[in-house]
Amino acid sequence: CGIVGVTGSDNAVKILLDGLQKLEYRGYDSAGIYVNDQSGEDYLVKEKGRIADLKREIGPDVHGSTGIGHTRWATHGVVSVDNAHPQVSKDNRFYLVHNGVIDNFQELKSDYLSDVPFTSQTDTEVVVQLIDKLAVEENLNAHDAFVKALTLLKGSSYGFLLMDREDPDTLYVAKNKSPLLVGVGDGFNVVCSDALAMLRETHDFLELMDGEVVTIKPDSIKIEDKDGNLVERDTFHVDMNA
Ligand code: GLU
Repeated sequence: CGIVGVTGSDNAVKILLDGLQKLEYRGYDSAGIYVNDQSGEDYLVKEKGRIADLKREIGPDVHGSTGIGHTRWATHGVVSVDNAHPQVSKDNRFYLVHNGVIDNFQELKSDYLSDVPFTSQTDTEVVVQLIDKLAVEENLNAHDAFVKALTLLKGSSYGFLLMDREDPDTLYVAKNKSPLLVGVGDGFNVVCSDALAMLRETHDFLELMDGEVVTIKPDSIKIEDKDGNLVERDTFHVDMNA
């Protein structure tokens, strides 16, 4: 029900947890984060219940400079740690958080993924396994596998935030009928479903349009429209304080 992300910060864990806390008002039943420190260490922590419950699961060793976080409002699959996001591909390469519903997830599962062992009941896991399958079998990079997977999601609603363990300073973002913003920092960038979540980090945001795909690194933000053309967009300023 809420999404946060950051890249290029010394303190990704704190930024994600503070952001998730600000999104509590939207309601949720479980939450999780994935962070990567760019030198081979990464951590996935998920828990049922409140952000306070998630925080208790996060040991002092958990750290990173790029990461994604999620509060879940279950639509497909019970409330459980396995069904909480981030959802992970079978080779532990891709990490995905998702707000919304994938209408054709059953078809995708039987058409493309009948040989894949699933660890959750979510519609979201189908998408992350599909991205992985396309990357491996069609030899696509993360961006191209993500774009191709998006074309296969018929009539669905989503805000997606994707990380690739093999390219761990990059966030891949797309949305359809679900709110998602990019927050612009100095040497870092953030993503959130509500500006409120990131006002401690920045006051400058980019609005995203349905169908766009955004590639975010610590010092760059590339927006492409659904045909792959580069899009130029000005930031807007949010004066409010968190
Ligand atoms: N459909 C997804 C699930 O049930 C995402 C739900 C949400 O928007 O939090 O896991």
